[in-house]
Amino acid sequence: MEKQDLDWETLGFAYQPCSYSYTCRYEDGAWGEGSLTTDHTIRVSECANIFHYCQEVFEGLKAYTTEDGRIVCFRPEENAARMVSSATRLVMPPFPKERFVEAVRETVAANASWVPPFGSGAALYVRPFMIGIGETLGVRPSDAYEFRILVTPVGPYFKGGVTPIRLVVSDYDRAAPHGTGAVKAGLNYAMSLWPYEMAHAQGFDEALYLDAATRTYIEETGGANMILVDAEGRLVVPQSKTDSILPSITRRSIIRVASELLGLEVIERPVAYAELGEFAECGLCGTAAVIVPVMSVSDYEGDIVFNGGSDEIGPVLGRLRETLTGIQGGSIEDPFGWVFEICPADGEEA
Ligand SMILES: *Cc1c(COP(=O)(O)O)cnc(C)c1O
Repeated sequence: MEKQDLDWETLGFAYQPCSYSYTCRYEDGAWGEGSLTTDHTIRVSECANIFHYCQEVFEGLKAYTTEDGRIVCFRPEENAARMVSSATRLVMPPFPKERFVEAVRETVAANASWVPPFGSGAALYVRPFMIGIGETLGVRPSDAYEFRILVTPVGPYFKGGVTPIRLVVSDYDRAAPHGTGAVKAGLNYAMSLWPYEMAHAQGFDEALYLDAATRTYIEETGGANMILVDAEGRLVVPQSKTDSILPSITRRSIIRVASELLGLEVIERPVAYAELGEFAECGLCGTAAVIVPVMSVSDYEGDIVFNGGSDEIGPVLGRLRETLTGIQGGSIEDPFGWVFEICPADGEEA
């Protein structure tokens, strides 16, 4: 298959329209057929719910080429399931899980020429999302929806790949207790832009949020969960008492790799900000970044430094990252059935 003529090695994390998007509408109480489209715009009423009351949920996953030349993606059923729960919370009709996975498969296959080659560090980012398009003037749920998938080739999320990053504790909160923090919806991002800009203006890479109720416990950053390694080499995963941390698929995968493949002890519990300095390693995890090491967390009092301030990923997070990316890339056998094949290797029968 002919690939697009792109400089795969130098791709950033930015949108570029590809050949096809996927579109499906919900009207009169039912989802329609759905199809690929070459039109990368959406035409809707100015009174559509999305513009006024923000009925929007989204997902993010990557399609990429394995070492042996197959095009695959990672655990798409988990994205499908999470979008069902996000949609349900925002009173949107869930897009059926099997149809979600099939739509991802169809869209990526149609855009195969845009999937970066193995070893380039790049991937085809897949962004399924759903918006309320019915006209709603009073505050109520829309009666019509659009489910869409856009794809775009991307390089590593953070420039420099696994170079450790620096966080600052945010003065603002991300998610209210028992609010929508666990829902993957645009409404959780609009208000995170200000703290993100503040963090940047102060020279940090990301803002770290504490629990909004007590500002005592660690939650996550604007778009990635946190993972920690304690002095005994155990993986400690911060939990929220108030259901305000987004359930990252990468984090849940890391937990299984740690306990089932690497024999690490895994502890999921609320982690107080006050104890952060006792941990040996700290990292962020999510689809975009997989695992990015955190060098330091700063507040008005000073800096907490991990892994001795090294400019490399620590030993435990390094092994976790290698193992997970090895499974994803096909160099390590996938004992979990996580890798979902979209196109076989060139020249092989489907
Ligand atoms: C998407 C997202 C994550 C990461 O989830 P993955 O499923 O691992 O990509 C973490 N936190 C927030 C707030 C998110 O929106």
